[in-house]
Amino acid sequence: MSIFNQAQERIARQIDPEVAKKNWKDWKWQQKHLIRTIPDFERLLGVTFDKGERVQLNKTVQRFPLSITPYYFSLIDRHDFRNDPVFKQAFPSPQELIKEDSDMVDPLAEDKDSPVEGITHRYPDRVLFHVSNICSMYCRHCTRKRKVGDKDFIPNKETLLKGIDYIRKTPVVRDVLLSGGDPFLLSDSQLDWLLTEIESIGHVEVIRIGTRTPVVLPYRITDDLVAMLKKHQPLWINTHFNHPREITASSSLALEMLADAGFPLGNQSVLLAGINDCPRIMKRLVHKLVQNRVRPYYLYQCDLSEGLSHLRTPVGKGLEIIESLIGHTSGFAVPTYVIDAPGGGGKIPLTPNYLISWSTNKVVLRNYEGVITTYKEPDSYEPIFCDRKCAKCDLQLKLEGAPEYDVTGIAELLSDADERIALVPRSNERMTRRENGKSRKR
Ligand SMILES: *Cc1c(COP(=O)(O)O)cnc(C)c1O
Repeated sequence: MSIFNQAQERIARQIDPEVAKKNWKDWKWQQKHLIRTIPDFERLLGVTFDKGERVQLNKTVQRFPLSITPYYFSLIDRHDFRNDPVFKQAFPSPQELIKEDSDMVDPLAEDKDSPVEGITHRYPDRVLFHVSNICSMYCRHCTRKRKVGDKDFIPNKETLLKGIDYIRKTPVVRDVLLSGGDPFLLSDSQLDWLLTEIESIGHVEVIRIGTRTPVVLPYRITDDLVAMLKKHQPLWINTHFNHPREITASSSLALEMLADAGFPLGNQSVLLAGINDCPRIMKRLVHKLVQNRVRPYYLYQCDLSEGLSHLRTPVGKGLEIIESLIGHTSGFAVPTYVIDAPGGGGKIPLTPNYLISWSTNKVVLRNYEGVITTYKEPDSYEPIFCDRKCAKCDLQLKLEGAPEYDVTGIAELLSDADERIALVPRSNERMTRRENGKSRKR
């Protein structure tokens, strides 16, 4: 099967009259010939936007730049480009300039939760490490839109060393998630160096890489890259397909190379209005993903970043999609639908309700078919009050050296390990009154 198809041949010649067929699949050729302007887009699509539209588009591009690989461009259906899911993810919309009151520059507070440049440390045991600010395709729905194309944010070796140093000095970090930008746009040797450094840190158990190259630049997955990555197992790789049309022969081959090398593959989609906000599209996507040995991991509600309002859907759309998947298809084909909490609260999973009611010995549930059923709880159950004194607990014999850890949040409220019976907001008036009353007494 020839991966080099007619559309690709036409685009390749238009971009680079000297192109030899073999160059098309050279990821560096693709990088060198990124499409970055409205006139280039017009020329390759074979359309001319009217003057008014072009003014709007240019304004948009000045604020949020444009970049697309020739490969990803070649997936656009030229005859119906305005409805094309690839076009819509890559081509600017003047609606990006609309500012809504709820829009935020850094909705996930990644910068606030950043102990050193490049690191976001939000969860107890894992960090996000921005190792590259380069992308070959600028997704219009990028949550880090504020930084796209900003040269100041390109991490140099010195910045990377600061990040590595933070991880080394922070023993609770057992999972390091490399993101960006796209980590796979670093050179093989840069990436090799980075992975070697992180791996050498004793308390790091796994490294993950988030990359969109299998979608927008599948030729980046070369034999050399895979051979280098293989030295760094265990390595988990997550990619970002949003629409079944993005899974082509080329991307399938890239995924096959990664899966054959033994990397567990996951996919993170973003729910996008007019692109994939449809149960049928999403079902097709998850099925194609699992056929390619990629486990759908997350489906994200679109963030509150500036310039994304026209791409957002109501939360109900995400729940409707999940409702259409759970029970209706393989469990491992169903992603977890999450909202990344504005302000930096992390990912919050959402599922349709399956628990209808319950009493002291029975729960009433419904299934995906709408069947209402009951589950009878045990008549007797010896409750285990876990006070975390493991030395005195029978279960400890099977712990096999599992480390001790602190419970926090709701898990802490549920546990019997300490005295806390409530979580109270810091600005609670009643508590402030109590505090003030105390100081008066003294
Ligand atoms: C998403 C994310 C992670 C990883 O979360 P998982 O649920 O473990 O995949 C880690 N840190 C930050 C800041 C994140 O946004």
